[in-house]
Amino acid sequence: MRFDVLTLFPHMFEAVLGDSIIGRARENGLIELNFVDIRDFSKNKHRKVDDYPYSGGGGMLMNAQPVFDAYMSVAEGLPNKPITVYMSPQGRVFNQSAAVELSKEKHIILLCGHYEGIDQRVIDEIVDMEISIGDFVLTGGEIPAMAVIDTVSRLVPGVLAAETSYENESHFNGLLEYPQYTRPAEWHGVSIPEVLISGHHANVEKWKREQSLVNTLKKRPDMLEKAELSKDDIKFLEKHKNEIS
Ligand code: SAM
Repeated sequence: MRFDVLTLFPHMFEAVLGDSIIGRARENGLIELNFVDIRDFSKNKHRKVDDYPYSGGGGMLMNAQPVFDAYMSVAEGLPNKPITVYMSPQGRVFNQSAAVELSKEKHIILLCGHYEGIDQRVIDEIVDMEISIGDFVLTGGEIPAMAVIDTVSRLVPGVLAAETSYENESHFNGLLEYPQYTRPAEWHGVSIPEVLISGHHANVEKWKREQSLVNTLKKRPDMLEKAELSKDDIKFLEKHKNEIS
């Protein structure tokens, strides 16, 4: 999978996406990241890329021309138009389902705004979808783009180690994950749940599902309304509702 990021601050990205799992995925050729400096496409001798908004109100707006030219430097001549996503507080709020959808794309262009944002005309011309990482406003789209790249990349086959399954993780199936424990089996006088060392696979799976339900009911009860629950799940929740919440 390839990401092209259009940004005024390409150097921000390597510190976050150069190491660890994503760094390895890049080395192994599973993920290709390319950062395009929008400033390189300024026609101004001082490499200026912003101007005052016609609506007033202070702040600066990124000009359409350098953003468009940066976009064309990636998209021109390609047989298929890559999906182009503008990181924006006005967009669809990013979640695991959006990440799964994007992980099916082969090529994604992420456009990062800065200052007061970007001239609407170039957004209208090149952008297919807007994504927000939450109902708050950051100074730029770079941190949101990193969050999207990281989340989507770990869904690409081969990026996570073979034994790691993201299907059990929080949000994948509409629930939060169960609590996890590692060695030692006893720490600060607290032992891990016995079922985990019972070797009884079916009981371990039942415990995981129930603990997922408990976690979700305690921390994000709103998620239970949309989750796909079995009859056993509903029975379990009914039985334990009072002691859990
Ligand atoms: N004036 C814009 C508005 O009110 O919608 C906000 C501009 S914001 C200060 C600057 C840039 O940061 C945006 O163009 C966008 O790329 C990025 N940004 C800010 N908050 C974001 C969020 N919650 N999700 C994604 N991108 C965001």
